Amino acid sequence: MANSVTVQSAAKINLTLDILGRRDDGYHEVEMVMQTVGLYDTVRVEAMGSGIELSMNTGDVPADESNLAYKAAKLFLKEHDIKHGVRIYVEKRIPIAAGLAGGSADAAGMLRAMNTLFYTRMTVADFRRLGAELGSDVPYSIEGGTMLAKGRGEILSRLAEAPPLWVVLAKPPVSVSTAWAYREYDAMSDVRHPDTAAMISAIDRGNGAQVASDIYNVLEHVTKKKHPIIGEYENILRANGAMNAIMSGSGPTIFALAQNENDAKRAADALRCSPVAKGAEIFVVPLTGQHEIVKSDSK
Ligand code: ATP
Repeated sequence: MANSVTVQSAAKINLTLDILGRRDDGYHEVEMVMQTVGLYDTVRVEAMGSGIELSMNTGDVPADESNLAYKAAKLFLKEHDIKHGVRIYVEKRIPIAAGLAGGSADAAGMLRAMNTLFYTRMTVADFRRLGAELGSDVPYSIEGGTMLAKGRGEILSRLAEAPPLWVVLAKPPVSVSTAWAYREYDAMSDVRHPDTAAMISAIDRGNGAQVASDIYNVLEHVTKKKHPIIGEYENILRANGAMNAIMSGSGPTIFALAQNENDAKRAADALRCSPVAKGAEIFVVPLTGQHEIVKSDSK
């Protein structure tokens, strides 16, 4: 057994987010082109005698049994009937409750780290099954890259790698409840849907400008109506170097796509200088975030 394992787990954005209908189990049937970006939480896990201890660099999420990193550790130990305990440290950089699947990234990072720590040789199918027990976005978060997600988000197929664009992530200081956004969506009558096939074709052709023009999120309308600041951020980003900008997940984070790092920085700087962006969390990152095992120590 290794002594400790440290992994980086990336945030995701939805290049497209479509809702195809309601299911009998109450969930929505979705179709989403998912993409990891170069913004990471770091998860470190160390074996110890027994129990699960969790600490984090923030008090904004409880470091207790309700935490997704804790739940992932507990599920993993039960699945493999492991009697050891683990000490976990999560360094959060991904904004919380932002539409960037930060909690899923931590759960995914835990499963990957524990698989390495305990040499359990889990297969992709094992990871997807355990991940789905923790949350709809967790199976995707384990694998990352460019994928099409269907069902609740857990039915995954790998797409060609997205073109090497740059991204501005901007989270305004407002909160959005995912359940609220889906309820509001259900009450809408006239909905424009993304052209998912066109997005996949643009990715296949490596056409960054077309990818940017095809980004679309069906949940944006409801969230933007309640929080017009989302539209204001998008306009500033589009006017200052970004090819296009939309909301990720159920929000409130906006992501903007730019052809290169300079354009992305220019758009981010323009937003930072604007009074509407007071209290915003803003990042400039590459589009293609790669998960990484940073360190595995054995004694
Ligand atoms: P999604 O895009 O999947 O809807 P999100 O980015 O909107 O996710 P998260 O940051 O994953 O939201 O957090 C959603 C909720 O999960 C938070 O309100 C938080 O209390 C809870 N949570 C539990 N564990 C974690 C964790 N390790 N990191 C962040 N949030 C966590």
